[in-house]
Amino acid sequence: LRSELGNVDRLSLVGQMAASITHEIRNPMAVVHGFMQLMREKSPGSLDHYYRIVMEELDRVNSIINNFLSLAQNRVSEMEDCHLHTIINELNPLLSADANLRGHTIVLDLDENVPELRLNAKEIKQLILNLARNGMEAMDDKGQLTLQTKMSLNSVDLIIKDSGSGISQNEIDQLFVPFFTTKEQGTGLGLVLCLSIVERHKGKITVDSKVGGGTMFTVGFPRGISVIEHISGA
Ligand code: ADP
Ligand code: MG
Repeated sequence: LRSELGNVDRLSLVGQMAASITHEIRNPMAVVHGFMQLMREKSPGSLDHYYRIVMEELDRVNSIINNFLSLAQNRVSEMEDCHLHTIINELNPLLSADANLRGHTIVLDLDENVPELRLNAKEIKQLILNLARNGMEAMDDKGQLTLQTKMSLNSVDLIIKDSGSGISQNEIDQLFVPFFTTKEQGTGLGLVLCLSIVERHKGKITVDSKVGGGTMFTVGFPRGISVIEHISGA
């Protein structure tokens, strides 16, 4: 039977299993979450510190589960004609609110020559959010996060640049290793998810960083997937 299962079937089987497991984990988590809230209401004050830690850890488990689910459902993405700038403009209020809270500024530098691409908008949104959040988490206040698009010779480039702490060579080698994190509240799955999204778009992701000098992630989408070239090439 196993040999009769095609690759796609096997992938969706893993996706289905992941979905039911995460469902089974989320339910007890929701119960713990609810009872924690009740406990705090019954004994306010004395346990606040413990309460905060438990809630943070619950959040962390939640992000791990969500990221893992997105990864495991690594099925063929549904692509649509979509503009990177539309996605960036949609995300901008969310990112700006986050940036305001942290004392960061966001700079948009969008090249109007960038064409529409064949994208999965939901995934690209997740990609940008993950990279932007990492950027913000690496900066103290007065940091600057730049979202840039530009045309390169063979690719349409999406660049997310921060003025944060930078990444050492040793850490760069581990960036895309599942569960590698240097953060107390990290999952170490954000960049793994980014890589899988970029690969589904037949793109490339590169990182350029200097300790103390900020970090720049570049996602290159092949120009062959732009809509105009797509149509004229047909
Ligand atoms: P998480 O953010 O949960 O730690 P990620 O996969 O998103 O997981 O990132 C893995 C690690 O890569 C981070 O813990 C951090 O050490 C490093 N990293 C990623 N992006 C940046 C960045 N822009 N600046 C500095 N370090 C980064
Ligand atoms: Mg992250």
